[in-house]
Amino acid sequence: MLCYRFRLYPTKTQEKDLAATLDVCRTFYNGLLDERKVGYENSHTVTKTEQLRRVKELKSARPEAASIHSHVLQVVAADLDKAFQNFFRRVKSGETLGYPRYKGRDQFDSFGLKELGNGFKIDGRRLKVSGIGRVAVRWHREIVGTIKTVRITRRAGKWYACLACECEAETLPRTGEVVGIDVGISHLLATSDGEFVENPRWYRAGQKDLRRVQRSVARKKTGGSNRRKTVLQLQRHHERVKNRRQDFLNKVAHRLISRYDLIALEDLRIKNMVRNHHLSKSIMDAGWNYLTQKLEDKAVSAGRLVEFVPAAYTSKTCSRCGAIFENLTLSDRWVDCACGLSLDRDHNAAVNILCRSRLGQSRWVSTQGTGLSVAQEAVGL
Ligand SMILES: [Zn+2]
Repeated sequence: MLCYRFRLYPTKTQEKDLAATLDVCRTFYNGLLDERKVGYENSHTVTKTEQLRRVKELKSARPEAASIHSHVLQVVAADLDKAFQNFFRRVKSGETLGYPRYKGRDQFDSFGLKELGNGFKIDGRRLKVSGIGRVAVRWHREIVGTIKTVRITRRAGKWYACLACECEAETLPRTGEVVGIDVGISHLLATSDGEFVENPRWYRAGQKDLRRVQRSVARKKTGGSNRRKTVLQLQRHHERVKNRRQDFLNKVAHRLISRYDLIALEDLRIKNMVRNHHLSKSIMDAGWNYLTQKLEDKAVSAGRLVEFVPAAYTSKTCSRCGAIFENLTLSDRWVDCACGLSLDRDHNAAVNILCRSRLGQSRWVSTQGTGLSVAQEAVGL
């Protein structure tokens, strides 16, 4: 499944209808959540099937809901069910609980349709959505595969259609190259080949602007229209930073995936690291979580291998002789070893990460014996 996001250009009337649809969905969502809560208090578990029946009731009870496609409302019930499933999963695994919440006016920003040709279709150059009409779309890229579902989303005052498509995975030809990757504070990442990708600092650079807009929001009267306008400005600002960051990381991931058969990464507990205040902003900046997720996703469809290895002592170990640098601190950017190794700290760590992967280890062993090709066979590359 691939998701394509296209910008929509609704007319004034269409925009009003889209917003009205969101509002009906939101109150429906809150109503269903209420039903579940009351059910729970009376020790009766309300199921998704039960709640899907509420769609018909809602449509006959509220005139503004009558014109909304039933699939839209069914998706709302499914979304709430998903929120509960996630909640139960978190309870089981002992994470922070986060009971599904009632959605305020600014917190509900999408609705979905689940069948092409039933509720939505591509009509010439436009996207025809039931109850909304033919909406102008900027088709900035070609769609590969079969369109299955759509989700209409509002973000920072702009509208988008996310088309989920089913398509054949396209396996890339083998390159015979493998890599270990270390995430740094001074660089975004360092590879075992000695390449460095610098950390983009837009987020920090944009902070000054951000603070200015935030102060401006704080000065506005709550509930006033000026405040709403400034909040929108703030959302756009965040949106832009996010777009730039993701665009950059997508390109980094694409480059790595096209070049290497196997990518070894540190198994970092991001959640723990972010709590460390000295490191946090840089890590958030780098969007390491986003990048690993992207690498994993792309690896699956491209037939590549992403392997996570234990992170302990990757910086403090000599990648040539295995000696430990006990006195290495965060500020030491270069490592020198008695065995003659002299390398950038992060480069050395990246080599260690590669060595800890399955291929790295078999290569390590096999350098005296059978050679790399056998090792590659061993992990199915
Ligand atoms: Zn050494």
